[in-house]
Amino acid sequence: MWLRLSDAAPQPTIACIWKDSGRQGKCIERARNEKIEEMISEMTAAVLYGKEDLRLERVAVPQAEPGELVVRVGAALTCGTDLKVYRRGYHAMMLKPPMPFGHEFAGVVAEVGAGVTAFREGDRVVAMNSAPCDACFFCRHGQQNLCENLLFNNGTYAEFIRIPARIVEKNTLLVPDGVALEHAALTEPLACVVRGLEESGAKAGDTMVVIGAGPIGLMFMHVAELTGVTVIAVVKREDQIATATLFGATKVLQVEAVEDVVEATRALTSEGRGADVVIDAVASPAAWEWAVDMVRKGGAVNFFGGPPRGTKVQLDTNRLHYGDITLKASFHHTPATCRTAFGLVTNGRFKCAEYITGRAGLDEVPGLFARMMSRGGGSREIKTAVFPGGVPR
Ligand SMILES: [Zn+2]
Ligand SMILES: [Zn+2]
Repeated sequence: MWLRLSDAAPQPTIACIWKDSGRQGKCIERARNEKIEEMISEMTAAVLYGKEDLRLERVAVPQAEPGELVVRVGAALTCGTDLKVYRRGYHAMMLKPPMPFGHEFAGVVAEVGAGVTAFREGDRVVAMNSAPCDACFFCRHGQQNLCENLLFNNGTYAEFIRIPARIVEKNTLLVPDGVALEHAALTEPLACVVRGLEESGAKAGDTMVVIGAGPIGLMFMHVAELTGVTVIAVVKREDQIATATLFGATKVLQVEAVEDVVEATRALTSEGRGADVVIDAVASPAAWEWAVDMVRKGGAVNFFGGPPRGTKVQLDTNRLHYGDITLKASFHHTPATCRTAFGLVTNGRFKCAEYITGRAGLDEVPGLFARMMSRGGGSREIKTAVFPGGVPR
């Protein structure tokens, strides 16, 4: 439960100190312990109140109910979704404001609720931002990402976070020694990308075009490269050419440097045939239309970016039909893709450190988002790691 301090139950008072002089020493000791408890009964957390209204507040430290964990946040990562929620002031799938903010993190178990046997105090864990019910129509049809009762959990820009029982049970993983918590925190966004890649049907030897070089586009490039797929990146800014190359693109096309983006991209594919798979990681109508025109006959497009409600695009139906083209969109992750992503993050082949381009303390979070807003799409930042316990040197 997220309680404001004013709503929280008053701290128990120590009435026994002078009552039983024979046990006075012990009581004083207990009083000291409770004093310590009192000191950490409050914590700092970033709370979103509405459009671009993010505040740091003192709130009660959550307590673990049966089946739950309370985790001390080691590192929380900024994400495009957070920025979208910050700009809009709400998230259709998550909570309404005022709401605890942030969803990518890893940390150390601080409290274990009754009945939890898989984790102990002091364990390093990464907990996903959701878990499916495994009972509804979609879960039973292997589409847990579309679960009708998907349980979301937010509030990673805080000193502690409560992990609901369902997420503890289905989507919390032990981080091996030697894997930094800020790297483990990449598991969630990567799980969405892994699912997107699986759904696109891309396999070793294929050529894939990725449109967009934000954090998600860059993750697509890197995972595809690790899978043996040849990646062509379509990027907006010049500085993104180097980043796309770093994450595995063998050819990079800068949109503003060419007259016809589709033609120029197709020219980079074998015999100008078009790519086997095209991923849109931009979410603009233009990018969606390019994607369809860049794919080869019999190929597949995955519209991965989520545009605002009501967005429409124009597609050449003749080309779609006679080209036998598969159009696909992907949303979110499943427990299985979370585990695949976790494997990538922990096996040492994934360039985790390269995704974290900024480091900040918890007190910097409101300013960080304000800056991300003003920089818009021009930011060279990929992800900023927020360290509530202080930025490590
Ligand atoms: Zn995210
Ligand atoms: Zn379900």
